[in-house]
Amino acid sequence: MPEAIPAATGEDLILSLLRPHLLSLKPYSSARSEFDGRAEVYLDANENPFEGGYNRYPDPLQRDLKTALSGIHGVDVESIFVGNGSDEAIDLLMRLIGRPGRDCILQMPPTYGMYKVSAAINNLALVDVPLGADFQPDVRQVLAKASELGEQAKLLFVCTPNNPTGNDFKRDHVLSLIEGFDGLVVVDQAYSDFSSAPSYVDLLSDHPNLVVLQTLSKAYGLASARLGVAFASTAIVRWLNAIKPPYNVSGPSQAAGLEVLRDEARTRLQIKDILTERTRLEAELNSFEGIEQVYPSDSNFVLCRVPRADTWYAALVGQGIVVRNQTSKFEGVGHLRFTVGTAEENVRLLEALRALS
Ligand code: PMP
Repeated sequence: MPEAIPAATGEDLILSLLRPHLLSLKPYSSARSEFDGRAEVYLDANENPFEGGYNRYPDPLQRDLKTALSGIHGVDVESIFVGNGSDEAIDLLMRLIGRPGRDCILQMPPTYGMYKVSAAINNLALVDVPLGADFQPDVRQVLAKASELGEQAKLLFVCTPNNPTGNDFKRDHVLSLIEGFDGLVVVDQAYSDFSSAPSYVDLLSDHPNLVVLQTLSKAYGLASARLGVAFASTAIVRWLNAIKPPYNVSGPSQAAGLEVLRDEARTRLQIKDILTERTRLEAELNSFEGIEQVYPSDSNFVLCRVPRADTWYAALVGQGIVVRNQTSKFEGVGHLRFTVGTAEENVRLLEALRALS
């Protein structure tokens, strides 16, 4: 087990960013958080007393799961938040520090669509600073925009490997963003298990404005269980816990998470297979005439520039194969995103594309 990284407390920073009305919040105290020991008779939570496997509320703080995550990532348990998917963490971070109608969120499109949707739901302005050459962040522009916006620039989303482009951002660029941005920098690493680049969690101890998001939905194969993780300062994690719904992660999901984390070897083997398939897919896609560009991928999908994307998308659906049409994220220029499937699924995709190309 790696040594746990001592968490930055980050108390002052979060107090300066927090929506002021939350300072007087008295968080909900659930039955399971008020009594924490072991009892023989539980008559505290208005549950159905007949044992059926699901009749009791789950641990509101998902401690077993966090202990397992702490062992794998070398991060203190107090620096780990678990959400109902990382989408929940994205929304809670906005609700924690974004003043509706006043503050802004910065993102670097084309990127993951939920940053925009969550900002809209929370009535936060979205400020776009498009990615530059090779889909890398334009650090100077982002920091110039942030300084223009001043204290209203509350959150910057940095998705690496980025969805839908698939590439890792250069570490120097991400570091410059973390160090130059005064609000919280959310480094979304949903796809990092498919990349050879090191994780950003080791920067947590020196950077109290850093939040690292990961998920069990991708490499760990638990998309249905909805388990997302935010690694951050103890102060940020405490505040996220204060505003989350009491039992935000279901008991079956916590159990499923523990099970996959205890079998890391299986996940590593699956990742290896997916990466082998990614290499094959990239090579074959490159040979098709109708594909103008196959972008290099550090994730479990491959983005391609396909002039006839709409036609191809419809034709693939006609053959029972669904891919993602990303054309709207590229100003109308045809782009398709292919998730790496099993060897058999990829063969089917390639055969169908061969017929179209
Ligand atoms: N971040 C990125 C970059 C994603 O692509 C996704 C899911 N597509 C998420 C976060 C959300 O993942 P989760 O299933 O953990 O909510």
